[in-house]
Amino acid sequence: MSTALQPLRTIEVALEQNGYPVVIGAGALEQLGEQIRERGVRAGTKVLVVTNPVVQEHYGATALASLSAAGFEASTLVIEAGEDQKTPATVALIHDAAFARKLERGSLIVALGGGVVGDMAGFAAATWLRGIALVQVPTTLLAMVDAAIGGKTGVNHAGGKNLIGAFHQPKLVLIDPLSLATLPEREFRAGMAEVIKYGVIGDPELFGALEAAAAPPVGAARAGLASREAVGPALLDKLLLRSAAAKARVVAADEREGGLRAILNYGHTLGHVVETLSGYGTYLHGEAVGLGMLAAGAIAVERGLWSEDDQERQRRLIAAAQLPLAWPSLQPQAVLACLQGDKKVKEGRVRFVLPTAIGTVEIRDDVDTATILAALDRIATPEPLAPPELIGTA
Ligand code: NAD
Repeated sequence: MSTALQPLRTIEVALEQNGYPVVIGAGALEQLGEQIRERGVRAGTKVLVVTNPVVQEHYGATALASLSAAGFEASTLVIEAGEDQKTPATVALIHDAAFARKLERGSLIVALGGGVVGDMAGFAAATWLRGIALVQVPTTLLAMVDAAIGGKTGVNHAGGKNLIGAFHQPKLVLIDPLSLATLPEREFRAGMAEVIKYGVIGDPELFGALEAAAAPPVGAARAGLASREAVGPALLDKLLLRSAAAKARVVAADEREGGLRAILNYGHTLGHVVETLSGYGTYLHGEAVGLGMLAAGAIAVERGLWSEDDQERQRRLIAAAQLPLAWPSLQPQAVLACLQGDKKVKEGRVRFVLPTAIGTVEIRDDVDTATILAALDRIATPEPLAPPELIGTA
């Protein structure tokens, strides 16, 4: 019996060629097979589900049963998939399985898992037989709102993160919020950083909804953004839909990151520095992005581009998601050197995405060193949060 609690909703990623739907709804995983059939994939097609042990344990059987019921010749490959396993060697294991199971041009790979599985299975699909079809079934909040949509796939090289990769758009992205039930809270919070990002870069209404949840009326049963329970199903639904729609809009406008798509890097330039200098694994990606957003906000305040009030509003949401608030003690010279090594450097100038209002950002490549250091100083030892009623009254 189906446990679908609500009708599935669809957001189109409107690309010039081969656009695709993002289908969202509680219980969607049980309809994986049907949804793929609706995209014109014939019964009898070989489908390889790539997943990791944890996700396999919770959701592997449901995915496989749905694919088999829809008439596909489906099988599963379980790979070890931590960030340290996101390597060409693991992709080679997927290629080996594709060979052993005789995947053909018309076959399909399903990525069932977080961003690590999605990036690797996506890259394997992009490269097997010069590209076979891919379906993304993200199971972390971060992958649902970000990694699974947009067609970026790849693995890490010893020299840096995501240096090897390809653009390979999926045929379908299927998001089932129920699969977040088993996600560790720390991973949920990391994904929330990306949701807050969408609010700041372009969606004031989403930002407002997050604010309302972060500081609910006295006596409200739920508070905060730090767990699926705290957020509740209605807001979770809203933030998944709005985040997916935001990502879809930006990707449709700039499929290969020529311009607009750079705004998605809000918080990522200095976040990347935190990840690199603290040693991978100390901070989760989303935690570092939260710090990166605080840093970018502080630069924007230093430059007079946005107000202290808006920076405080952003900080309040990051705090409500129980993400780190204090910039770690990193050597300033190391920070500057790391910034210069960033993929986003163009002709020696670091490009920052800086907020100018809640919902609006600018891309600037004229931020000087003194401003960066002053901004980091600002957020090194965060002051306690001001009471909400004082924000906006300055
Ligand atoms: P992840 O894939 O490592 O997943 C986090 C952890 O959650 C893992 O231990 C995983 O086993 C576990 N997990 C996943 N789903 C679960 C579930 N439903 N229940 C219980 N446990 C579950 O991490 P992530 O944050 O999803 O993704 C990070 C990766 O995504 C990075 O490698 C990053 O580079 C990549 N990324 C890619 C893009 C893109 O556009 N392609 C964008 C952002 C991030």
